[in-house]
Amino acid sequence: MADVVLGAGVIGLHTAYYLAKTGRKVIVVDQNSADNNCSFGNAGYLSPSHFIPLATPGIVWQGLKWMLDNTSPFYIKPRLDGALMKWGYHFYKSANHKKVTENAPHLYNLLLLSRNLSIDLHRDLDTNYPFYTDGCLMLCTNNESVKHETDLAMLAKKDFGLDIPLLSNKELKEMDPLISQNVLGAAYYPIDCHLHPGQMMSILKDYLVKMGVQFYFNEKNISFEKKDHKISKIIGENISVNPENIIIAAGSWSGQVAASLGIDLPLQAGKGYSYTYKNQEKNIKYPAILVDHRVAMTPLGTDLRVGGTMEVAGLDLSISQNRIPPIINAANYYYDELSLYLPKPTEIWSGLRPLSPDGLPYIGKTKRFDNLFFGCGHAMIGISAAAATGLLLSQLISGQKTEIPVSAFDVNRF
Ligand SMILES: Cc1cc2nc3c(=O)[nH]c(=O)nc-3n(C[C@H](O)[C@H](O)[C@H](O)COP(=O)(O)OP(=O)(O)OC[C@H]3O[C@@H](n4cnc5c(N)ncnc54)[C@H](O)[C@@H]3O)c2cc1C
Repeated sequence: MADVVLGAGVIGLHTAYYLAKTGRKVIVVDQNSADNNCSFGNAGYLSPSHFIPLATPGIVWQGLKWMLDNTSPFYIKPRLDGALMKWGYHFYKSANHKKVTENAPHLYNLLLLSRNLSIDLHRDLDTNYPFYTDGCLMLCTNNESVKHETDLAMLAKKDFGLDIPLLSNKELKEMDPLISQNVLGAAYYPIDCHLHPGQMMSILKDYLVKMGVQFYFNEKNISFEKKDHKISKIIGENISVNPENIIIAAGSWSGQVAASLGIDLPLQAGKGYSYTYKNQEKNIKYPAILVDHRVAMTPLGTDLRVGGTMEVAGLDLSISQNRIPPIINAANYYYDELSLYLPKPTEIWSGLRPLSPDGLPYIGKTKRFDNLFFGCGHAMIGISAAAATGLLLSQLISGQKTEIPVSAFDVNRF
């Protein structure tokens, strides 16, 4: 019997990798060709620095203010939708200091484990992709965000022992002369890494095929049979399997799949955009988060990827054109010598981040079925946390002790 992973995004592929590594038979099934899901066009950061969840104190009121602004970086489209309201309720309940303080160490442990596993995995693969260990800059253009980043750096030092240099504009310009005078300062996370996510995804997929993992793509209408607290069969157009275990790694669609099995899993999609400038004559030297504008910039060899926005607007990949100029304008404000052009709307990539309400992913087994696991809800850290998620799921499935405690990621917590 095989373990069936539903979803060939970054979480599904890493889960398949760790399961196959322990000698298990693995099948991956995707409803699409899975060559342009959310795991492809993202910023490619592997960031232990992302230990603060999206739901932070202040975000609710900031979000309400931003709802009136159709160019804002964070937007929840108001809808009369029970699932959104339930998610919104839990998001609101999680957006406080106590919860953030509770959740940050769990996120950090997951992210640190994942960074180290990703380095090992990169070494294990027989074909390679560039893996950069240059760290990441959190660039600030006002005093408030400098203070916020300073506080975070102190917290990272106190709680996780991380040394985060705080840099002035002059020091930043020594690291990367393209950084503009508009930047007041930055926190620098040397521990962060980055890669080209699309390259990594296709190389990992090919490697899984060599490991014996079977793939079924474009299986649009997967259905399930249930028997005695188990999923006894998975049926698609080209597949009919009695799974030993099934792992739902269907990204932003995982809530829908859960609902089809009678499971209530609060999850919303957070749409983001990116554009990749090819063969830049001048390129930035370090990945950088433009803190005040919530934009991410990633140097990928001679290419430069710029991305941002978080639109909670359902399972909709359409491009909201008014949200693109603020992303590019921000990039030009922080790096004024780049003079980036505004791309055509048809050239923009969009992806749906799977958002749990509290910013912690779902990793583990449901109460409802004995052989049903979830690996989803990774929001802004799918690339950063994929390896650890895959390892933890494979350990849970094989009945081994998990590398780090997983109770915070409990699928049944809401
Ligand atoms: C602009 C932007 C920048 C980002 N930057 C970063 C970053 O720098 N670092 C980082 O860690 N994260 C980043 N993220 C987030 C990251 O991309 C996601 O967390 C991650 O890709 C989610 O992976 P996933 O495997 O859960 O989902 P996906 O990649 O969406 O994969 C899910 C797969 O499941 C399939 N599927 C859905 N429903 C079914 C079904 N019923 N049956 C079978 N298959 C199904 C889909 O077709 C899809 O292929 C960014 C996201 C965006 C939008």
